[in-house]
Amino acid sequence: MLVMDMLDEIKDKNRKQLEERLTQKGGYIIDEDGIKLDGDYFKKQVRIALKNCDIIDPTNIEEYIAMDGYFSLKNILNNMSQQEVIDIMKQSGLRGRGGAGFPTGRKWETALQYSSDKKYVICNADEGDPGAFMDRSILEKDPHSVLEAMAIAGFAIGSDQGFIYVRAEYPVAVKRLKAAIAQAKEYGVLGENIFGTNFNFDIELRLGAGAFVCGEGTALIESIEGKRGMPRTKIYRTAHRGLWQKPTIINNVETLANIPVIFQKGVDWFTKIGTEKSPGTKVFALVGKIETAGLVEVPMGMPLHEIIYDIGGGVPDGKSFKAVQTGGPSGGCIPENLLDTPVDFESLAKIGSIMGSGGMVVMDNTDCMVDIAKFFLDFTVDESCGKCVPCREGTKRMLELLEKITSGNGKKEDIDTMERLAVTISSASLCGLGQTAANPVVSTLRYFRDEYEAHVMDKK
Ligand code: SF4
Repeated sequence: MLVMDMLDEIKDKNRKQLEERLTQKGGYIIDEDGIKLDGDYFKKQVRIALKNCDIIDPTNIEEYIAMDGYFSLKNILNNMSQQEVIDIMKQSGLRGRGGAGFPTGRKWETALQYSSDKKYVICNADEGDPGAFMDRSILEKDPHSVLEAMAIAGFAIGSDQGFIYVRAEYPVAVKRLKAAIAQAKEYGVLGENIFGTNFNFDIELRLGAGAFVCGEGTALIESIEGKRGMPRTKIYRTAHRGLWQKPTIINNVETLANIPVIFQKGVDWFTKIGTEKSPGTKVFALVGKIETAGLVEVPMGMPLHEIIYDIGGGVPDGKSFKAVQTGGPSGGCIPENLLDTPVDFESLAKIGSIMGSGGMVVMDNTDCMVDIAKFFLDFTVDESCGKCVPCREGTKRMLELLEKITSGNGKKEDIDTMERLAVTISSASLCGLGQTAANPVVSTLRYFRDEYEAHVMDKK
């Protein structure tokens, strides 16, 4: 078992070794602020959730400790009450990075308030957006940050059991998580009597079978319970009655990866980054027609053009920018004249897109926006679980209309029908998948209507 004092010893020893190794390797900035990745691509980035990625050896818990890992948990268990932990989470203003943007501290407080013989902490690692790999990278490159955060959440709400619901299509992440859980138990930072206190917390993995809808909290819970993963009718909040009807908090990987750092560096430090309503950073998977694709972590509020041009290097091959799609398959396409929009939950919603979990797909002047809308809707139709009619049938009818239009057989009134369908699907679907399914169509109609009209021109 790891006794309290050994944590400092392990940190000091491994920090020196880590710094030596990285200095030899090159490509890092090592100073009093810590260790950071060097290079133009990282200049405008602020790495909190990704702070250890590509720096530490993820298979070695001691390198995580070298970067201050498990110190937050230790401090919390020794010096703080459950309410104090929750107060810090609330003051930090951290909002869920999985897409909904719900305040994490409020979620935890609700779960604390309900007394129960059993409570659960779930990490939602069922990342399914096409082109997104934010969560996968954190799980593969810094698994202990997620484990530490889950233990902190467990202490805060009074839970001794966590589950990580991770896609089976992420075999490296699964392997790293299994190894990290075993190491954490060996070092006494997970399992029974953590840091020698009477706090117990265990974590088990549950593998998802690739159903996109299982990223929805209640469908994920159904799946863990061994049922078909379909969203529940929302009578209760999961923080009240979630897994096996017990108080349950579900946080996504990126949200969790922020938590140990918030407790290390403090609320004042965290809230100075980002915007007033959305403090901190957001990780995006910047992909598509972009010079330098990859993960970027930027302060909330950074304008889209800074991410696309200053970090991503703009559109390659002499082509010009046409649109950027944020928010995954249910997000919206944003045209060039709105590239000064800051990336935060409210600003993106105002222009008809969403933050989502962090997909950011850039399109150039050769892309047909009607085809793009069809691609994303095709994905949603495939992934609809079929529980409710507006989503199950409405998205199919909409896709049929898009196919008709792109094959040259569409008429002007088909566009009107799609607009009416979009309103019904968004307002009457049971879960977020259906409620946002029409976004790619609605946003492309809003900003690129001429392309739809060109397809149906001269058709009566
Ligand atoms: Fe299933 Fe779609 Fe209804 Fe959600 S909105 S419950 S995915 S059919």
